[in-house]
Amino acid sequence: MTERTDVVVIGGGQAGLAAGYHLRRQGLDFVVLDAQAVPGGAWQHTWNSLRLFSPAAFSSLPGRLMPTQPGEEYPDAGHVVAYLSDYEKRYDLPVLRPVRVLGVHDDGRLLRVETDSGTWHARAVISATGTWWRPFLPAVPGRGDFEGRQLHTVSYRKPQDFTGGRVIVVGGCNSGAQIAADLAHDTELTWVTRRPPRFLADDIDGRALFDAATARRRALDEGRTDTGGVASLGDIVAVPPVREARDAGRLKASPMFVRLHRDGVVWADGTRAFADVVIWCTGFRPALSHLSPLGLRGPRGRIPTRGTRSVQEPRLHLLGYGDWTGPASATLIGVGRPARDAAREIAGLLAAGG
Ligand SMILES: Cc1cc2nc3c(=O)[nH]c(=O)nc-3n(C[C@H](O)[C@H](O)[C@H](O)COP(=O)(O)OP(=O)(O)OC[C@H]3O[C@@H](n4cnc5c(N)ncnc54)[C@H](O)[C@@H]3O)c2cc1C
Repeated sequence: MTERTDVVVIGGGQAGLAAGYHLRRQGLDFVVLDAQAVPGGAWQHTWNSLRLFSPAAFSSLPGRLMPTQPGEEYPDAGHVVAYLSDYEKRYDLPVLRPVRVLGVHDDGRLLRVETDSGTWHARAVISATGTWWRPFLPAVPGRGDFEGRQLHTVSYRKPQDFTGGRVIVVGGCNSGAQIAADLAHDTELTWVTRRPPRFLADDIDGRALFDAATARRRALDEGRTDTGGVASLGDIVAVPPVREARDAGRLKASPMFVRLHRDGVVWADGTRAFADVVIWCTGFRPALSHLSPLGLRGPRGRIPTRGTRSVQEPRLHLLGYGDWTGPASATLIGVGRPARDAAREIAGLLAAGG
């Protein structure tokens, strides 16, 4: 099967849907190709107790406010999945599932998008594939020697899977803190962070993170001093379960160990901890392998961009991967503006005959 359209959006998570909303407003013909069988992107795979770090009203995509979740100030992931499902229905977005994009190729005037269900030819492509699908594990000596179980954030679901076990959680950001808090009751927990954990003040949440990212981008764009952005505020939003565990003294962090052994880990001063499980909450990288045929890779596995547009390939936009593709673009509330800018730029390019 071969199809033709103005724009192919790759990925039907929140970033792909925000792109669809704005492409529709620009009156462009487009399709969203998503590898998942059902709506919700990465949110359908997170751990059960995950809470958003902003209230619902501050976690909305363009055009439609996220409703509050009864009884919860910070909604859970299931609530986000329901919101995204409703969003794509409400705007009647043309999302095709499950369709996995295997590669994007330059065919001269058009970009050729090869998938496991056929080929699309497009005048422009928006890549919005997220990071969840490329978990990052640091190279720590002895990682291959450990005989217990190792998993990344992406495979963690619930504390009952580890009850009574000796668990080491590695990571000092939101995932690490939330998973450590989740496990603090029922396991023998060691929480390990590279530097002492930096909790945001209890009355600060994702709204402040969004403001900080936006202020930083504005300062950099205007040639002013770097404000430090989100990192200047702290690393961990004290959502209620994290706050509770911290205040109860169950969330004490140890420094990073220097290596793993067959049965546990060892610190620089020779102290050892035995462990059954190590959970690596050590972040993600952008899932961009489908773009490798275009040969655009820059430093740190990224593709150099101006705004969302690839510097080398003006028909390609990257959306939702982090501040380098728009301030706070990897958040629900932050992806709307770069999605709008990408759709506008593409409309301009196509109108000019690109
Ligand atoms: C643990 C965690 C907690 C977070 N908490 C918050 C929060 O509280 N508030 C907030 O605003 N943000 C939060 N985020 C950040 C962000 O909102 C989410 O990561 C969100 O899922 C990103 O959406 P996305 O659309 O960019 O990517 P995804 O949700 O990952 O969607 C990408 C879609 O693209 C598909 N895809 C990937 N590759 C291909 C391919 N080759 N072909 C076709 N389809 C493909 C995937 O299957 C998926 O459906 C959190 C992130 C994490 C990891």
